[in-house]
Amino acid sequence: MSKLAIFGGNPAIRSPLQPFRTMSERERQAVIEVIDDDCLSGFYGSWGDKFLGGPKVRAFEEAWALRFNCQHAVTVNSATTALIAAIGAAGVGPGDEVIVPPYTMSATAIAPLVYGGIPVFADIEDDTYCLDIDSVRKAITPRTRAIIVVNLFGHPARLHELRKLADERGIVLIEDNAQSPLAQEYGRYAGTIGHIGVFSLNYHKHIHTGEGGICATDDANLAFRMQLIRNHGENVVEGFNVTDLTNLVGFNFRMTELSAAVGLVQLERADELVGRRVALAEALTKGVSDLTGIIPPTVRRDCTHVYYAWILRLDEEYLGITRDAFSRALAAEGFPHGVGYVRPLYLLPLFQQRIAIGRQGFPFNLGAPDYSRGICPVAEKLHEHELLSFETCAFDVSEGQVHQLVDAIRKVHANRTELRDLQEVTNA
Ligand SMILES: *Cc1c(COP(=O)(O)O)cnc(C)c1O
Repeated sequence: MSKLAIFGGNPAIRSPLQPFRTMSERERQAVIEVIDDDCLSGFYGSWGDKFLGGPKVRAFEEAWALRFNCQHAVTVNSATTALIAAIGAAGVGPGDEVIVPPYTMSATAIAPLVYGGIPVFADIEDDTYCLDIDSVRKAITPRTRAIIVVNLFGHPARLHELRKLADERGIVLIEDNAQSPLAQEYGRYAGTIGHIGVFSLNYHKHIHTGEGGICATDDANLAFRMQLIRNHGENVVEGFNVTDLTNLVGFNFRMTELSAAVGLVQLERADELVGRRVALAEALTKGVSDLTGIIPPTVRRDCTHVYYAWILRLDEEYLGITRDAFSRALAAEGFPHGVGYVRPLYLLPLFQQRIAIGRQGFPFNLGAPDYSRGICPVAEKLHEHELLSFETCAFDVSEGQVHQLVDAIRKVHANRTELRDLQEVTNA
């Protein structure tokens, strides 16, 4: 094979990848229609028929519930606020423990803190990168109130098993499904198997409205509590005859009519938009599946994968070079990718210094959570030594470019012994 680009050869990828485009004429028309109506938000934060939002918001929620086969969809303005609403509706309070994975976007682990809940980290599986059920079991205590499971990179966690465990123990299971719309486990959609499922509609996700989020649930009471949290619930509890005021301090998490109008079209196009990412990821997997020492994404039996990201796992020992040396050579070939995903979250200053709300260490001071390095060894090892991530959702890749991406990996793999010297130089 030709000379590695890192040593002056021609890069395998000859033109930079284009960013993924998802807006079409249909979204454009939908937005114009709302502008022409002049009512960009249909919400009022008080008792009355506008408490639940305008016509586009309601239509979007109805369409979402229908598409995902769930009873209720509550729109909000991000998945972050969706997680906060879910945690609030679940009744999490000061000192309650919420089990979360460390390998996820930070919002997953931050949401409990808003209600004084203490995030407790459980480790992940080394093939799907989602929560490990034995690790979750060990993390459960009498103070565990909720579990937030993340369907990471487009693949469902062990959702049915976790739901069973949660129900047995009287725990609320919240799915952070920001990365896995339309993924399935046992024929059911991820995001609808836990008590509440949270979706993201931010610009970087499969389907988007710029910013936005959805809470999905089959539980009418949870849906109602999330609607109250979304829109200044304190003002309407009397009108609705609500007696349990727990966590009903309201926010403004409301979605605009503009976003909902775009969301309605994006939802109708979801199969196409998700399908393009799946096709890209499957083509990449096919192109590298015969290479030893490189493990492409696995899809567990009875699951489908929607590939928010395409993740490669490298075996440093087999390859004889470090993951980082491989990554540097791959970058030189023009392959945009990340080394690992995010640092395990408990290593963030917030957890290391235990400063979240106020100066006294609240809510960590209500318990004794362990955030030491080493608490989730699988996540640490995967992140620090094994994973390379390619953001499937970020690029529009032509067929020719798929071949170039595959060639880039194959080229680095074939010439890897040459990278040993590079490694020594780096290490010196
Ligand atoms: C993107 C993302 C979020 C946050 O979504 P926003 O809509 O930007 O708030 C939360 N969790 C995961 C796993 C995500 O990927």
